[in-house]
Amino acid sequence: MARTYDVIVVGGGTSGLEAAKTAAQAGLRVALLERKSDPAKVQRSCAQMFLMNMDSFYNEHMYFCERTQKWVFPVNNFSVTYTGGYRKFYACHFIAPNARDRIEIGDYESNASGQGVAACVFNKNDLLRGLFDEGRHAGVDYFLERNVTAVFPHSGRCVEVKTAEGDRLAGTFCIAADGINSRIARLTGMNRQRIFLFTAGSVSYYITGVQFDRSEVICMGNAYDHNGLGMVHFCMLPSVYRDDEYWLYIGGDEKLDFFTRRSAFSHWFKNIEITHKRSAVITAWSPTPEPFKDNVVFVGDSCWFAEAENTGALLSGHRAALAVAEALHRGMPNRKGVMNYLTWWKRNWPETHDYKSFLCYAVFFKLFDEDELNYLHALIRHKLPWSLNPFNLAGHIMHALKPHRERIRRERPALARKLDRFGPETSIALMKPATRLGFPAL
Ligand SMILES: Cc1cc2nc3c(=O)[nH]c(=O)nc-3n(C[C@H](O)[C@H](O)[C@H](O)COP(=O)(O)OP(=O)(O)OC[C@H]3O[C@@H](n4cnc5c(N)ncnc54)[C@H](O)[C@@H]3O)c2cc1C
Repeated sequence: MARTYDVIVVGGGTSGLEAAKTAAQAGLRVALLERKSDPAKVQRSCAQMFLMNMDSFYNEHMYFCERTQKWVFPVNNFSVTYTGGYRKFYACHFIAPNARDRIEIGDYESNASGQGVAACVFNKNDLLRGLFDEGRHAGVDYFLERNVTAVFPHSGRCVEVKTAEGDRLAGTFCIAADGINSRIARLTGMNRQRIFLFTAGSVSYYITGVQFDRSEVICMGNAYDHNGLGMVHFCMLPSVYRDDEYWLYIGGDEKLDFFTRRSAFSHWFKNIEITHKRSAVITAWSPTPEPFKDNVVFVGDSCWFAEAENTGALLSGHRAALAVAEALHRGMPNRKGVMNYLTWWKRNWPETHDYKSFLCYAVFFKLFDEDELNYLHALIRHKLPWSLNPFNLAGHIMHALKPHRERIRRERPALARKLDRFGPETSIALMKPATRLGFPAL
């Protein structure tokens, strides 16, 4: 006999913990199943950055309230308690392979002198610990070290969930919060309605001893290795764990070795020490048309393109739990009952955050060779308005290049043709080699 609940949440990451806590606070009987022994122990790569109130992400304008120790989501009308540390940063710099020219997004000097906070890094362990504890106080039954292996919808009446450890649980609803490589999306046939894009591995390093000119920025760029590796993409930003530490995302040990010892950037890294490293595997699909199937409600990365970010995970976990509570209290345990979530999701996710625009950003700098990148970075001399929303970034840079298009046509006709051809559809085409190498699991 399966143990019964109102809702079974699968996955104890950001979206699942927020969903379980919210559903229990709304009076539902909630079980959460999580593969790890301690959900708050973060092992997966994550830059742990929140875009702040200078930017809009999923049509929300979140901020941190020091007095109440809460992340506040004013548009969606809720807050999340957070007692961990955080570190502000003030701009984003795209740096050319020559390690000199840069495109500046956000005004570092003015923000650092008190005009604003572009974004901040937070301690994800503390965020998850807080959500977990609040869920426990609200009455969530946690089942840890449980690997969910099967999900059976019973003709729209309930959903049964089985684990490799032999548990059988049934819920009127199931909330799938099992992340970017969601097994539930696969088991329910959800992935058959999606376009497979790519599989990517990532490694990130926490390092101390870095010396560069602006410490409170996120800097992204490409170094060029003439001895085999070619273009090496990196992203670096302050770490929340130590003041003298940075988070460096780069494609593995060989690239790290080149970047820190032999590239044009190596003078930043004379005396570094790697304190720890994390990794992640990402299976990217186009978003699901609708985050619902046979009483399984999808949240966070499980149904989205690439990474929903912690903002998206919190928002969708929260909204889905409220919709499930509403459905049960109104006696509508079905798709119609959770319509508030489905409508909200479509409006604030796919309709305003086109995954093809995100892809444009992912491939934009890959269009160009070393010389072209140095040329383009040197062209844009003024600071661009702040935005780190990955759905807008490529458009932001293309817009800043517009006044220079005649000059580019004159000086670099081949580069001008590349820019003319670039758009959402070409980004899909550019993705093709990566798509062929990936592992779609239907
Ligand atoms: C390199 C990198 C950098 C990033 N940087 C940022 C950033 O700066 N800011 C930001 O906000 N976001 C960032 N993200 C994205 C962010 O980490 C995710 O969007 C967020 O964690 C999604 O939360 P989630 O709850 O949907 O999924 P996850 O956090 O992946 O949680 C899924 C949970 O489900 C569990 N699980 C999976 N399968 C099963 C199963 N079968 N049975 C039981 N449990 C299961 C997993 O153990 C995990 O705990 C980054 C991601 C990467 C890879």
